[in-house]
Amino acid sequence: MSERSDSGSTQRIDLHSHSTCSDGTTSVHELFAQARAAGLDALALTDHDTVAGWPDLPAAVAASGVTAVPGIEVSSEDQSRSVHVLAFLVDPSEDSELAAEMARARASRIERARRMVELISADHPVTWEDVTAQVAGDTTVIGRPHIADALVAAGVVPDRSAAFTEVLRPSGPYYVPYYAPSPLDAVRAIREAGGVSVLAHPGSVTRDDDLPLELLEQMVQAGLDGLEVDHREHGGTETARLGEFARRHDLLITGGSDFHGTGKPNRLGEHLTAPHVLEEIEARATSGTRVLRP
Ligand code: AMP
Ligand code: FE
Ligand code: FE
Ligand code: ZN
Repeated sequence: MSERSDSGSTQRIDLHSHSTCSDGTTSVHELFAQARAAGLDALALTDHDTVAGWPDLPAAVAASGVTAVPGIEVSSEDQSRSVHVLAFLVDPSEDSELAAEMARARASRIERARRMVELISADHPVTWEDVTAQVAGDTTVIGRPHIADALVAAGVVPDRSAAFTEVLRPSGPYYVPYYAPSPLDAVRAIREAGGVSVLAHPGSVTRDDDLPLELLEQMVQAGLDGLEVDHREHGGTETARLGEFARRHDLLITGGSDFHGTGKPNRLGEHLTAPHVLEEIEARATSGTRVLRP
């Protein structure tokens, strides 16, 4: 984007990453060590539906010298379509609507994963124990990536990506949905928790048909703050289209790698966010949660 300077002196800010607290493969500590090695100045930790990694951030920042933006990637669902909303700088306390919705989603994810494994086990040699064996000690959110890892370990598929295309795809015979709030409720809950909401990889939501544009407009009306325009799932045309939508609706534009460790090809820092956007996120947040600087 034009706001991003190529001078090299600009801060390198990546606002989307995962740790072993959800479906990433690196601990929070290791994630920030790798962020430093990747030359990042700031990184947002945005595990799916949990703040479990947040307590590790102060030490990770101190050890790495990389600024941390506490975040979450909140799951929501619209007519069987999975819609992810990044939540930055929310109040992490457990009595919010946001916390309640995420707790419900996490519980539903476990039931859903068990059911999927039951269905898969009719055709492939994989058990629930094989899946839990793939889950790191600090994982609080079970997702299809963990089932994918069990399928890899059993030799059914070569890697996570193959597991997703061959066994775990939503149109396949083993897919089971899990509970998640509507995108509008997610946006409202994030705002109520004092945070800033950014629709994650909107291209994967709007690609297939035209209803989602209407959904996007509704999310804006519900208080959506921004769009993650710069993301590897967007081609050039999509990036331009989403950027135009964002400017027309006066939305913040972010970029992030969506790093999942070795679980995905995404590399830290492959997409970045302009420094003035992070400043605006900080200015908008009304919770006590702040960006953590070394
Ligand atoms: P779930 O939320 O359990 O339905 O799983 C969705 C998660 O799977 C996303 O957050 C991605 O991190 C991951 N994922 C989706 N597609 C792929 C893929 N092709 N390869 C690896 N991970 C994927
Ligand atoms: Fe993920
Ligand atoms: Fe996502
Ligand atoms: Zn993500």
